[in-house]
Amino acid sequence: MIPWGGLSCCLSAAALYLLGRSSGRDAEILKSVTRVNQLKELAQLLDAEILPLIVSISGRVGSETPINCEFSGLRGVIVEETAEQHFLKHNDAGSWIQDSALMLSMSKEVPWYLDDGRDRVHVIGARGATGFALPVGSEAFEESGRSLVRGTLDYLQGLKMLGVKRIERVLPIGTSLTVVGEAAKDDVGTIRIQRPHKGPFYVSPKTIDQLIANLGKWARWYKYASVGLTVFGAYLIAKHAIRYILERRRRIDLQRKVLAAAAKKSGSNNDVEKADSLSDVAKRDRLMPDLCVICLEQEYNAVFVPCGHMCCCTACSSHLTNCPLCRRQIEKVVKTFRH
Ligand SMILES: [Zn+2]
Ligand SMILES: [Zn+2]
Repeated sequence: MIPWGGLSCCLSAAALYLLGRSSGRDAEILKSVTRVNQLKELAQLLDAEILPLIVSISGRVGSETPINCEFSGLRGVIVEETAEQHFLKHNDAGSWIQDSALMLSMSKEVPWYLDDGRDRVHVIGARGATGFALPVGSEAFEESGRSLVRGTLDYLQGLKMLGVKRIERVLPIGTSLTVVGEAAKDDVGTIRIQRPHKGPFYVSPKTIDQLIANLGKWARWYKYASVGLTVFGAYLIAKHAIRYILERRRRIDLQRKVLAAAAKKSGSNNDVEKADSLSDVAKRDRLMPDLCVICLEQEYNAVFVPCGHMCCCTACSSHLTNCPLCRRQIEKVVKTFRH
């Protein structure tokens, strides 16, 4: 009798509420970081401020030693290449299904910096940052060569090779990026920006205002969804509780009726008096004669689908559209054989 639907709605609402709160907090943190408009200001800030210094900077990606990409022809600072073998597989049901397997996955990164036209700041560990995604530089599909021997061998193993898909993801030179992170100076005075021990670390093509607006939008969305789910969950729990109370009340009424009828039949009132003195429903259940609650004559032997209640004889149940206990609609009546 646990209202699982309502409870899971309320738990999801709580999870969404927490997500919304953390998005809202992230937006507040981003609002509070120091915005550096010109990279040369960063050196002065680093000399003056107490560390750690969390800043937001923008500029274009540059490097002394860029990677020349094999497939896309781009020059980049971070390159990831994957190759997937695509094939058809014979499954147990006798049909061919498409599948793929990763053959190769490699990545390269060279030291790189953001450049605002005059000054440079090195960026460290961007791949682990929030909002960082490598754009696809090239995507190509090479079909398998048609060698008869190879084809026959694969076919015997239940495979048909289709080809290889190569994807190259590149962070190209010249990309505009915003980085939010900790600014630090190494022993030779080179300024870099990196993941702070505690605090935000973003590397994104969006501006900091877009990042804040985005987080705010998610925070609001989570809040609305959380309120909606709470209301719906409360409605489900209330519905469940009301149905439970009504059903319990009807069951007690019907039992009283059945007991009275049984007592009249046996010509003595002892059972009823005994039953009335017992307040406990369980004891009452034990004393219950197996009488149909409608005619009070036959023994009950019909089970209602879907509610599963058993309180009527088959003859009476044929006139019913709803269960006398829970009032749920009867889809089917199953006869049981009792002894
Ligand atoms: Zn009956
Ligand atoms: Zn029922």
